Amino acid sequence: MFHEVAHGLGIKNTINGKGTVRSAIKEHSSALEEGKADILGLYMITQLHQKGELESQLEDYYTTFMAGIFRSVRFGAASAHGKANMIRFNFFKEMGAFTKQEDGTYKVDYDKMQTAMNALSEIILTLQGNGDYDGVTDLVSDKGIIGSELQADLDKLEFQDIPVDIVFEQGTEVLGL
Ligand SMILES: [Zn+2]
Repeated sequence: MFHEVAHGLGIKNTINGKGTVRSAIKEHSSALEEGKADILGLYMITQLHQKGELESQLEDYYTTFMAGIFRSVRFGAASAHGKANMIRFNFFKEMGAFTKQEDGTYKVDYDKMQTAMNALSEIILTLQGNGDYDGVTDLVSDKGIIGSELQADLDKLEFQDIPVDIVFEQGTEVLGL
């Protein structure tokens, strides 16, 4: 829900006369906007939690957010959402927000994840506000990719026959109508 709230809050126009963010950042605007909505959604959760508006543990939200990246990236990195997911995954990895353990599982470092969340939010909002096309191009080509280690882990899920999504068979034919 907060992902969608973040879309609504902007930024929609650059602050340096380059027009709308969409026209300045061109083909990368969707990937950056989806990435913004994801990370600022978590930022808002964090803020509301600190104000006492949200119950339960903040760590639960962070763990779920991290798990969500693994789920989403199974759809691939080609779409705007996919690229945004990989930028976030690779950025988090570099910032130590999570580590891969010897047994092959991943572990979240909550303090470092919060630092990474703030840093990535700042980067994305600055790129949008400046309409920095070259900066976004660099970010997407540098981090919008699935690394070999992650791909190997995703292949494990494939091998275990864990479905990427559920497809419902429905309609008049299924009902025999
Ligand atoms: Zn969105």
